[in-house]
Amino acid sequence: MRLTLLGLAMLLLASCQQPAAEQAAAPAAKKRPAYAIAIHGGAGTIRAADLTAEQDAAYRAALDSALQIGEKVLQGGGAAIDAVEQTIRFLEDSPLFNAGRGAVFTHEGRNELDASIMQGKDLSAGAVAGLTVVRHPIAAARAVMEQSPHVMLTGQGAEQFAREKGLEIVDPSYFFTQQRWDALQRAKAEEATRLDHDGPQGSRRPSRADYKFGTVGCVALDRAGNLVAGTSTGGMTNKRWNRVGDAPVIGAGTYANNETCAVSCTGHGEYFIRWAVAHDVSALMAYKGLSLEAAAGEVINGKLKAAGGEGGLIAVDAQGNITMPFNSEGMYRGYAKPGERVVAIYRE
Ligand code: ASP
Repeated sequence: MRLTLLGLAMLLLASCQQPAAEQAAAPAAKKRPAYAIAIHGGAGTIRAADLTAEQDAAYRAALDSALQIGEKVLQGGGAAIDAVEQTIRFLEDSPLFNAGRGAVFTHEGRNELDASIMQGKDLSAGAVAGLTVVRHPIAAARAVMEQSPHVMLTGQGAEQFAREKGLEIVDPSYFFTQQRWDALQRAKAEEATRLDHDGPQGSRRPSRADYKFGTVGCVALDRAGNLVAGTSTGGMTNKRWNRVGDAPVIGAGTYANNETCAVSCTGHGEYFIRWAVAHDVSALMAYKGLSLEAAAGEVINGKLKAAGGEGGLIAVDAQGNITMPFNSEGMYRGYAKPGERVVAIYRE
């Protein structure tokens, strides 16, 4: 009798737990959106007080237009690789961002551009570094991925490859903007009056007011379930000796894997390279079973923040979840899914 009662009690308990277990499983079974896309236009010292109302509006409009370009591709059933490339091309053409036209200047007064792109379906990737005459570095990165046996090309060789593939070549002066030139002069003047306090592994930081990372990036999930990430940058103001940051380094500034997520980073590249940030987010999901948000948060607001590495990232996972953490004061960013389009700059 006792046993029967116990059995009944256990049955009752099991039947009570059943719906709860089903409920817990429900969010994972949530229908993935037809597409998802996120972009960034750099992180850093970006406070509401630093931008005029006109500048604020101009950045928001540019971010919104960029999202619309990517969304149009994805809405029409296009591939994430095309959405990412086209979105980044637009951001490269905008002088507001530190990529393509509007890139920051090296110590020698040049614009040296880096970019990379990666597809999650087969882990194919392409990257370029130190370009001075290619209008759209992201297109060069894609060409490396699709039309060369290599992953990363640099300098003159990369430019020769871009020429051979028929990419648009411009005069180096095309990338000039007065604002970035002035920022270099300030950084040099400051450098002359203070020691570089970033230590041997840090690069020379621009002055506080110019401490904005204007790199651009885009991550997307298409209808077919493919994840793609791309990043493009002019690097850091006053960089020297053909310095290359994280943006063209697969696993650091850019990473995509259909099993986990697509990630594009912005921030102090020396840290993002050493902490293998983009891959670390994917690895935390794969090995530790963390959600996209938890994995990205742990890297940006945990590991990197503790180390003093400033910046942020955008990421989308295979279910269409999006996260955009940053540990700096602001990050130009935005995302879109069917029926939703959001842009933001500060901690809002
Ligand atoms: N991560 C880039 C670099 O270090 C800079 C940026 O994000 O603006 O080259």
